[in-house]
Amino acid sequence: MKAEMNADKQCPCGQGAYVDCCAPLHLKNSVAKTAEQLMRSRYSAFALQHIDYLIETTALGQQQYLDRAAIEAWSQQNDWLKLDVIQHQPKLDKTHALVEFKAHYHDGKARQIHHEQSYFVLHDQHWYFLDPTLEMSMTMKQPCICGSGKKFKQCCAQFL
Ligand SMILES: [Zn+2]
Ligand SMILES: [Zn+2]
Repeated sequence: MKAEMNADKQCPCGQGAYVDCCAPLHLKNSVAKTAEQLMRSRYSAFALQHIDYLIETTALGQQQYLDRAAIEAWSQQNDWLKLDVIQHQPKLDKTHALVEFKAHYHDGKARQIHHEQSYFVLHDQHWYFLDPTLEMSMTMKQPCICGSGKKFKQCCAQFL
C-alpha cells in the first residue's frame, strides 16, 4: 500500500486534499452522501489499493462473488491518472442512481480510458455499487441483492 496520510496529498479523485475528500470514507469515519461521492471514493480506492473498501461498497448480495485477487491485481497493474465524472443522475427512482465517468489510467504500455455508466443502490442510508459483470445464479423472484426486501426483478435487476 502506498503512503497516504500526508496532509497535502491530493485525492486521486481530483476533489482536493485526500484527508478532506475520500480518506474519511476509506477510514469509515463518514459515509458517501451521494452515488457520485461513492463512485469517486471507489476510484480513489482503486488508486490506493483499498481492496476491502471496494468489496464493502459493492451490493451486499454480490460481495461473495467478487474475485478479490483479480481486483487487487487490476488496481496494482495500472497507474490511475485521473477521474472525470461525466454525469450523475441521483434519482432514477427512490433508491437507484447513475454515474457516468471516465477513469484515465496507464497500463504500463499506454494511456487508457475506461468509460462506464455505473448504477448504484441506496440501502439503509448507504450507497452500493451494482456490479454488472458478476454472474448471478439467482432468479427474478428471489429477494434483491441490495437487501431491500423487494423481488430482484422489481428492484436492482432493472439496472443490471
Ligand atoms: Zn476523493
Ligand atoms: Zn435492489
